[in-house]
Amino acid sequence: MNKFGFQISTTRSIDLDTADLTAAERLLEAEPSLKACIGCGGCTATCTAAEFVDFNIRRMHTAFVRGQQEGLREQLNRCMLCGKCLLVCPRGVHTRSVIMVMRKELTPEEK
Ligand code: SF4
Ligand code: SF4
Repeated sequence: MNKFGFQISTTRSIDLDTADLTAAERLLEAEPSLKACIGCGGCTATCTAAEFVDFNIRRMHTAFVRGQQEGLREQLNRCMLCGKCLLVCPRGVHTRSVIMVMRKELTPEEK
């Protein structure tokens, strides 16, 4: 079935008092436009990758800024960096840059 449009995420609870937000702070510092995100889901609804695979860019960056980075690296590899999400964002969030910063943050440093 060809998936299109918005999906309802399952309910989750996040304790921001105990979450490690250091990577999120680095992301917001590197790409401050993400602070303007209103969570509208326009990026997800128009995402090229989401038409073919299980991928939700809004869920990714929302989870990341809440300190939930487990399993994101693998999912972020599904992004093709086409930039379509960037074109539709009503808040001017540079989503492609957000993805690249998240990938960098989630890539283990080579020793
Ligand atoms: S389209 Fe822009 S404002 Fe809407 S959820 Fe995506 S990044 Fe946030
Ligand atoms: S850049 Fe990535 S997240 Fe944005 S529309 Fe393209 S595949 Fe989707």
